[in-house]
Amino acid sequence: MAESKDYYEILGVSKNATDEELKKAYRRLAKKYHPDAQQNEQDKKNAEAKFKEISEAYSVLSDSTKRAQYDRFGSNFEQAGFGGAGGYGNGFGGFDFSGFGNGMGVDIDLDDILGSVFGGGFGGFGSSSKKQGPVKGADLRYNMNITFEEAAFGTKKEINIARNENCDTCHGSGAKPGTSSVTCDKCHGRGKIQVTQNTIMGSFASVRTCDKCGGEGKIIPNPCEKCGGKGYIRKTKKIEINIPAGIDNGQAISLRGEGDIGRKGGPNGDLFVVVNVSPHKIFKRNGFDIFTEIKVPFTKMTLGGKIKVPSLEEEIEFEIPEGTQTGTTFKIRDKGIQNIHGRGRGNLEFTVKVDIPKKLSDEQRKILKEFADTFGDEVNQKKKNFFGR
Ligand SMILES: [Zn+2]
Ligand SMILES: [Zn+2]
Repeated sequence: MAESKDYYEILGVSKNATDEELKKAYRRLAKKYHPDAQQNEQDKKNAEAKFKEISEAYSVLSDSTKRAQYDRFGSNFEQAGFGGAGGYGNGFGGFDFSGFGNGMGVDIDLDDILGSVFGGGFGGFGSSSKKQGPVKGADLRYNMNITFEEAAFGTKKEINIARNENCDTCHGSGAKPGTSSVTCDKCHGRGKIQVTQNTIMGSFASVRTCDKCGGEGKIIPNPCEKCGGKGYIRKTKKIEINIPAGIDNGQAISLRGEGDIGRKGGPNGDLFVVVNVSPHKIFKRNGFDIFTEIKVPFTKMTLGGKIKVPSLEEEIEFEIPEGTQTGTTFKIRDKGIQNIHGRGRGNLEFTVKVDIPKKLSDEQRKILKEFADTFGDEVNQKKKNFFGR
């Protein structure tokens, strides 16, 4: 029997670390020791071993049942009759990538890390334990395009999601109605068989998923005809999504339990609807404030007066003062976007830019000339020179 490992020490956390602390520690270490992140071959080898160790520690401690067993019996608990080695691994299928909106970059990195390593060298380590306990269904992601206004005011959308659902013919058992599954004769119901394996870590005896039952420990002599024995079927489901007012580009709405169905009594996966907000014709958004530019005739800038300001709703009348300079920004409170956390609205800001007329009548030209004369300004007289045509 191998020496019992201190999983808490490996992850650098205390014995009463919360799930969140465990996840944090694991993420940090998984990044640090990811083999692809290493400079040379020796580092790579060391990192691989370390990576395997922290992954093992995390997969046990992140599972409340396994953690309790580990706390009682140490890391050899599997040999003490709790299922063979390779009993870790469930943790990866059921990974909870919470904090989708803000920590998204990190989550996706981690996903890649796990994918590349477990897809490569560590065969059997990640996904060999179907028999051990509940398995959470896969999380699903749906990308949704919405308009700027829909994001500002909220909306309802219907989407069609293809997902795994319980087979209604066999009710998830996978067996033809009236029949049932029987214990696998190759692994005698353990779901595992022992083999000697050559891996990058060296050669060792390991326990593998039984190829006859696929790790289930049971085989179905008469599979359900509808699902082919899987117990679930692919279905397209129509789901209504409430898009909250104030959502921004790249943010996600999570719908708990709307992903793929869980297996062996495990919870369903979640559905993440990620919104892609199309740009507005005239408004730019920053947080919950919106910005635009308005051209105002130079006479109105000079003398002051009322202008019409576009908003997300109706036009707003706004009086600019005498002597307004081009580039001045004004703010209209509470005409921006609804704060998604429910506390009022952002502001509408607009910058006025002077609008110089390109065509003048002779009469207008004459008046302007006289106006310029009062300042003693020398201006062009001829239409051709002044207006370039
Ligand atoms: Zn079925
Ligand atoms: Zn078997």
